[in-house]
Amino acid sequence: MRGLLWALLVLALTGVLGLSLILGKPTSAVDWRPLRAVAFESDDWGLQGFIPAAGAWEGLDRASMGCGSFPEVYWSSTLEDSTMVADLCRLMNRFQGREGLPPVFQPNYVMSGLGLIALVDGKKSWHRFDLPDLDPRYSRPGLWQAVADGIESGVWWPELHATWHYDPLKRREAALQAGVPAAATDRGIMLFPGSERARELGNWRELEELTIELDHSLAVFQGLFGRSPISVIAPDYHWNRKHEEMWNSRGLKVIQAKKEQKNLAWGRGLRGRLAKIADRSVGRLLHPGRVYLERNCRFEPVQNQDPGAVVTACLEETRLAWDRAQPAIVETHRVNFAHVHPAVVSIGLKCLASYLEELTRPAELMPTFLTDWEISQLQNRGTSWSVRGGRIVVRNGTRSARLITIPAEDLNLARERAGLGPVPNKPHLLALKAGETRILAPKYFDFARY
Ligand SMILES: [Zn+2]
Repeated sequence: MRGLLWALLVLALTGVLGLSLILGKPTSAVDWRPLRAVAFESDDWGLQGFIPAAGAWEGLDRASMGCGSFPEVYWSSTLEDSTMVADLCRLMNRFQGREGLPPVFQPNYVMSGLGLIALVDGKKSWHRFDLPDLDPRYSRPGLWQAVADGIESGVWWPELHATWHYDPLKRREAALQAGVPAAATDRGIMLFPGSERARELGNWRELEELTIELDHSLAVFQGLFGRSPISVIAPDYHWNRKHEEMWNSRGLKVIQAKKEQKNLAWGRGLRGRLAKIADRSVGRLLHPGRVYLERNCRFEPVQNQDPGAVVTACLEETRLAWDRAQPAIVETHRVNFAHVHPAVVSIGLKCLASYLEELTRPAELMPTFLTDWEISQLQNRGTSWSVRGGRIVVRNGTRSARLITIPAEDLNLARERAGLGPVPNKPHLLALKAGETRILAPKYFDFARY
């Protein structure tokens, strides 16, 4: 009898899992195959770490600190400077997708940093640096101008990564341990004993505190970039369902790298994998407006002995994604383009140029470069609009004519960049034929038309 009950229970569970897999599969309002979509997602921008400059580790036995294990190249990872951002933007602007638009780089930003600095009385204490403010040891003249220029030219599209990228309390507790940790902290090094495991979204942290932090980060983001983020990636890929609900309640509807999610509560092995699949499917079933985007192309050349092989593999992964009728989402961390050693940055830029050169020829097979924001709109309703620098890009990816509504708030963002006055505060409608894309100058939307 007990055996029969068990068999029924296993059968029921398998059924539920199977059903949720079928019903929870991502559906899309557009056919991705002909679009050949490509998006770039890049984590860690704005992070005031790992080290402020070359030589920071000199005379310190970093192995003795017990920070955790990181790929070698990360130990000398640093905050980007104006040249690094400008070079990357210039590279993106050299290429064009099928509509004549350049690729868009989506830097996921860490909004705040902690620094131990001496205040007026000479006593050192912790200070919070919200972007654009930086710890003086991470001073980067001209950085925010380079970022503004990138945004204006339409190739730099910031999204959200984290507030700190670590639990600030754990850092305060561990970073001043006598010896190497205290010396490292004094030099502005971000790593501390146990830092690898001191996750920002660790399950010991109260949701209430995290929500306060998120609200603060969103205000900092809005102040710096003039709009709210739409897409988010959790630091170290660690998060749970409650964090997703928190993000959604604040308008962050696109969650990056769902397949790479880690959640210690799921356990290990087969049980962990099944829990993860079920979580993804249930998330899609219960929250139809939520979009999970999968990073299906890996571009981390500076972590590989053979950077050229990374380019080849990434091109192959891009084509495989298109064959599976998915947008190709290229994951590439900041460390490829910002590093204390110029040779590392030059490998990252050279490889990205090779990838884009290969990707944008031949002309008849050009990709469409998109942002997460555009992908999520196309997936949910088949149409999209977006302010790319000074242009407004409107798409209809469906097989019938559609009316597309553009909020005045976004039109006015583009108009402000073009030095134009605001349009009346009401939704603006545009009719597009099946499959049509229109690239409009902000002056297209003028007072005279309404
Ligand atoms: Zn990160």
